[in-house]
Amino acid sequence: MKKLMHLRCNVEMKKGLLTTYEHEPGIVLRDVEAYICPKCKDYIFTERQMEKIEKRTEAIKVHTFAFERKFTISGRSLVLNIPEDIRRHMKIAKGKKARIVPLDDSKFMVEVF
Ligand SMILES: [Zn+2]
Repeated sequence: MKKLMHLRCNVEMKKGLLTTYEHEPGIVLRDVEAYICPKCKDYIFTERQMEKIEKRTEAIKVHTFAFERKFTISGRSLVLNIPEDIRRHMKIAKGKKARIVPLDDSKFMVEVF
């Protein structure tokens, strides 16, 4: 790989890790590879590094996806529909089982097994 110079400082930028980096607001990545200027700590990303950052950001977004759904009633049971995006992402097929664990007055956890 050819040398990456920080033109303003006229020094070679070195490969290193940024402790934290937010590619999208609110989505914090840790230990992000970049080329860092040893003098002023300015940094740039190569195309490959940026691809990794985008992939990591997307992975977090998928896992923090939130949906609002209304409860409906079926017989004596409450029904809550699982959005298609979650079903596909978690590969939940018909016949799979889920364990519902109440956490407090407004939260419960659904564990698919
Ligand atoms: Zn610099």
